[in-house]
Amino acid sequence: MRSLRSILLTGGAGFIGSALTRALLHQPHLEHLVILDSLTYAGNRANLTGPDQDPRLNFIEGDIGDGSLVSELLKKFKCSGIMHLAAETHVDQSIKKPAKFITTNVNGTFSLLDIARHHSVALLQCSTDEVYGPIATPTKADESFPLKPSSPYSASKASADLIVQAAHTTFGQEIVIARCSNNYGPRQHREKLIPTLVYHALRDEPLPIYGSGKQIRDWIHVDDTARGLISAFEKGETNRVYNLGANCERTNLEIARAVLKNLNKPESLIDHIEDRPGHDTRYAVDVTRSMNELGWQPKIPFQTGFEKVIHELSVALRPD
Ligand code: NAD
Repeated sequence: MRSLRSILLTGGAGFIGSALTRALLHQPHLEHLVILDSLTYAGNRANLTGPDQDPRLNFIEGDIGDGSLVSELLKKFKCSGIMHLAAETHVDQSIKKPAKFITTNVNGTFSLLDIARHHSVALLQCSTDEVYGPIATPTKADESFPLKPSSPYSASKASADLIVQAAHTTFGQEIVIARCSNNYGPRQHREKLIPTLVYHALRDEPLPIYGSGKQIRDWIHVDDTARGLISAFEKGETNRVYNLGANCERTNLEIARAVLKNLNKPESLIDHIEDRPGHDTRYAVDVTRSMNELGWQPKIPFQTGFEKVIHELSVALRPD
């Protein structure tokens, strides 16, 4: 088992990072949690309100590409591992402005990995099911599936995964990769699908749905992901990939209808807009390996998790 004694968590002020922060602070052996986050538009210091009162937590505003800062933090806190979540994450932004995705997701990951090597610290790379590209029904992608990313976002994540794996093959670096499916939960940035739908529904505005809305995603509650990331870091075999998903496939249209139903709004608010270029039709991952080897499984049923999250998001996004 890898030690959770002192963890450097990148991207902790983001959506999944702030859920992982809460889960890590419940770990009995954790002495230091060092969050490194550059607070891009997607990061929010308020996502850490509550956990930031814990004396074990140190928040550092900085970039993963700042090698001397990362080196100093690893030394100062005698870190036992890095959980790497910091990234540019929105597919639409990657279509509008791809360069930043290469800088952060590829170059930033390489820089972090290189410093990890000099300090002999294990690194968990948080990746995405989007690296497998579209998967035809009824197949589910297991970890041996080829990487066929479609967007600049997924291509940058796939590139980072390959660089991380090469660091093991070439330098013997201790690395694990977790590939997560679509997460839902509190504190997600308003640009992502479910918060966008909630935001517009609360204002009786049209809910934008790309194309037919028949694109399928596998939805997992962010707290299940956080437990999965901890399990993968602690128990994952080095240089092994673990899929984290919840076997919960829904079309975007089904998600929009469920949001409207929960908020007592009419389906006539659904507005089909021009499809996203290169829009993948379906993501679906096989999580057998994570269940068998990590002893992990998603626990939060979609129905109950979703209703609670819609409530949490409608409080956070309510009109002034
Ligand atoms: P997010 O956009 O909510 O948060 C990303 C965080 O990273 C932000 O706090 C941001 O300030 C920080 N960051 C960005 N660039 C940085 C840099 N150069 N240096 C330091 N900090 C930086 O993202 P998220 O949804 O929480 O995703 C976290 C990770 O999980 C990402 O690696 C993403 O690819 C992966 N992932 C997310 C999902 C999902 O459904 N949200 C699914 C699969 C994988």
